[in-house]
Amino acid sequence: MKKIPDSESFTDCHKASRMQFDRAADIMELDQEVRQWLNTSFRELAVRMPVRLDDGSVRVFSGYRVQHNNVRGPHKGGLRYHPDVSLDDVRGLAAWMTWKCALLGLPLGGAKGGITCDPKKMSPGEIERLTREYTHGVGDLIGPTKDIPAPDVNTNAQIMAWIMDEYSKREGYSPGVVTGKPIELGGSAGRIDATGKGVSIIVQKWAHKENIRLDKTTIAVQGFGNVGYYAALHLSRLGCRIIAVSDSRSATFNKHGLDIESAKEHKIRKGDLFDFNGGENINPEDVLTQKCDYLIPAALQNAIHGGNFERLQARVIFEAANGPICPFTEPRLPEIGITVLPDILVNGGGVTVSYFEWVQNIQHFEWKEDIISRELEMIMSKTFDAVISLAQERNIAPRLAAFILAIEKVVRAGHLRGIY
Ligand code: NAD
Repeated sequence: MKKIPDSESFTDCHKASRMQFDRAADIMELDQEVRQWLNTSFRELAVRMPVRLDDGSVRVFSGYRVQHNNVRGPHKGGLRYHPDVSLDDVRGLAAWMTWKCALLGLPLGGAKGGITCDPKKMSPGEIERLTREYTHGVGDLIGPTKDIPAPDVNTNAQIMAWIMDEYSKREGYSPGVVTGKPIELGGSAGRIDATGKGVSIIVQKWAHKENIRLDKTTIAVQGFGNVGYYAALHLSRLGCRIIAVSDSRSATFNKHGLDIESAKEHKIRKGDLFDFNGGENINPEDVLTQKCDYLIPAALQNAIHGGNFERLQARVIFEAANGPICPFTEPRLPEIGITVLPDILVNGGGVTVSYFEWVQNIQHFEWKEDIISRELEMIMSKTFDAVISLAQERNIAPRLAAFILAIEKVVRAGHLRGIY
């Protein structure tokens, strides 16, 4: 087996998304002009934000908003707060949003934002001041018909409320400028758990296709934030045994299945999963290599790489996080019998319900949760069927099939608009 150089085991999201795009573009025989158009961002903004900290000092933070493509609708994508945020990661995450929205058939383009900061070491007041400064910095770029941010890693409904408030001060009441807001400010029923629920719909569809009973299925979940927690919760309600979950500092394991709600209560009370009495402590990185049927990485990019893929024991990986598998490692996974269901399909539930929220904001009309649930299920199911059927028809991996379907839609819209 060829050794993968260490430098290729970790890569930024931009390089990863471009490699995935190029693999699909080669099969599609896309011409160079089109590749050049779709390989690069439409617009990139870097902002420097001076923020007064609680101790009276001022610190200057860096933030980004990258708009990849808006040929099918306004730019759409989350906002991430993390010490490792870089422009290259935000570029790649923005491109994935273009492909995700197109694949799902949503009338939206792709964007992403990020601030290099450690929100775990900041007070709520400092985070609020930083968020308002960021909104001021990217204010000309965002808006309900231009670019609509949403929560991502370490951001939440409260942060979306601050963005909406700051933006509304200059533009008038504008709930449609962000999604993932609190319900009281025009947020949507079903948004909080939409990504995790979408993950559970895709797992269900896969198990059904493979004739596997969910109550016979064991699953390990890396990441116990918004996506990981709700994915684990919905899947445990469907009868799956969630044998391990982790956050960045701790992990818990129970071969009989964890009680997900109790684990969450423990995390809220203690701040991590350490010493949860419904499981035993394990190393967070060992969650990935547990013996189980399905693995759900729901934390950050590059979780699975050249240094750990040979120890994976799951047969199927459902990418709930964006870019959790290093693109240099991915081609090796089929050789060891692992199938990957790609992020742009698996975690599409979040942006789908964000789209519903935006539609409700524009209509000034609230949809009930049962409608949202039904529509989400329909879009996720239809997209899963399209990806799997193309993958089977052309004997290609689901990721390639998903990219081909998405790129075709963007290219077609570009032709019709006369963009190139
Ligand atoms: P979050 O901040 O709510 O949770 C992230 C979780 O990952 C936390 O529990 C954190 O402790 C954990 N984590 C970080 N590093 C880890 C490590 N090395 N090992 C184990 N756990 C680790 O973020 P989220 O919104 O749940 O997002 C998770 C992923 O899902 C990201 O890739 C994000 O881009 C993607 N995503 C999120 C949404 C959404 O609606 N929030 C939608 C689509 C995709």
